[in-house]
Parts: sequence; structure tokens; C-alpha cells
Amino acid sequence: MFKMVSAMVRTLIAGNWKMNGLSSALSEIQIMRDQLAELAELADGADCLVCPPATLLSRVASVAGPRLRIGGQTCHREDSGAHTGDISATMLAEAGATYVIVGHSERRADHGETDLEVAAQLCAAQGAGLTPIVCVGESLPEREVGDALTVIGRQLQQSIPDVGQSGQNLVIAYEPIWAIGTGRVPTPEQIGEVHHHVRTFLTRRFPDHGAEIRILYGGSMTSKNARRILQVADVNGGLVGGASLRAEDFMAIYRTAIDPD
Ligand code: PEP
Repeated sequence: MFKMVSAMVRTLIAGNWKMNGLSSALSEIQIMRDQLAELAELADGADCLVCPPATLLSRVASVAGPRLRIGGQTCHREDSGAHTGDISATMLAEAGATYVIVGHSERRADHGETDLEVAAQLCAAQGAGLTPIVCVGESLPEREVGDALTVIGRQLQQSIPDVGQSGQNLVIAYEPIWAIGTGRVPTPEQIGEVHHHVRTFLTRRFPDHGAEIRILYGGSMTSKNARRILQVADVNGGLVGGASLRAEDFMAIYRTAIDPD
């Protein structure tokens, strides 16, 4: 269950700021930028990403510096056109993003996004040169009846196109819905079982490079539980919501990732 250090897969610690237009956003980003610069030698094996609300993207990107990556929280399947209120992957890239979260359970719940919609967003993201972070995860009732792996398998099958290069520039995040924002965290065994399942899917779908696609865990990750989670086999980083809003908390998780022992 617990891993040997994998030289192939760079850890990614990603923050999802959701719909929080922090008044302190730029100063939090500056603290992250400065700490990443100080940790640069140690941090050779780990990437750090923040996904702010779209309104903050370009300002955040302008102060983030060379080591903090910036991402969007969703993107439209189309590149431009009559889609009021939406934002395209190309627009995110123009604002300074290099990643985008797609299929977050809050998008699926609030906006009825289906796996097929997520697949279209993934293609749009990759087409614009962004790395999509595809979120999958089961609800509590689904886990309680023993359907977690089936649900996640279906989400993966349908939201990751079986074509061309779709696995070349891709991150998966396992986010059990019941763990998001609740303080409830699956056991290492539960996380390990799902991550193994995701890895098996990826290596079958992409025999050449499925072993190198990063699989993040997300759901109530904090600096207190990060070490235990990041030590699980096939956990290649974290997608962090609440604990990414303050630089101090987020960087504590990042430091755990670059020094996991
Ligand atoms: C999330 O929504 O992506 C998330 C992981 O949130 P939290 O860390 O707050 O549970």
C-alpha cells in the first residue's frame, strides 16, 4: 500500500480557490512565490499550482513568478462564441493559465456537467495547450453500497477520450464527494484502493505513458494529514480546497510533499 519513491512522476500540489475573491489574494500569492523561490533546490521534484477565480487569473499570474503555476477552475468546450458567462480554455491560457480543473463535483452538481461534457472540456483544454485536471469521485451513498470503484471506473471511461494524445498532458484527481470540505478523509487503504484502480485504468488506456500520469488526492487535505495521504502508493500529489486559501497552510502541505518522510 505504501510507496517506494517514484522517480518518474513529479508531485503536484494544486490549490482550488473556488468562488473566493480573497482581498488578500495577491499578497498570499506573493508569499507562495517567495517561499517557492527559497525552496527551489529542494523542490526539484514537485510542482505547485493555484487555481483562483477567473476574475483574478491575470493579476495572480502577473505576480506568481516562475515556479507557481496558475490554472482555471473550469472551461467551456468551445473556443469562443455566444456562451454568456462562460470562459474558454484559450481565454484561460491568454490570462496566464497552464492548467484547468475539469469535472469538479461542484461543477457536476451546480451545472449538471456530465462525463461527456467533461470529455469535451478535456479536449478543449488540451487543444489550447492547457493540462486538464479531471476530477472523479463517488458520493457517500455510492461508497456505502460498495459502488465507489464502479462509479469512478465509469467516470474515467466516459470522460477520458480513448483517442490520440489525450493522455499525454493529463492529471487525474480522485475527490470523494463526501470528503470535500467536510473534514472527513478516507483511510489510506481506501485512498490506495481507488488510486490503484485509477492507475490500472490509465496503464490499460495509455500503455506507453499511463504509469506517468499524475493522480492527485483531494478532499479535506491539510498540513496535518498530508504526509499520511502523500505516502500512499500512486498518490502523486493533492488537490486542496480550503487549505489552499492561505499561503501558510498551503505551503505547509507543499513542504510535506517535497519532504515526505
Ligand atoms: C476541492 O473542492 O477540490 C477540495 C479538495 O476541497 P477541500 O480541500 O476544501 O475539501
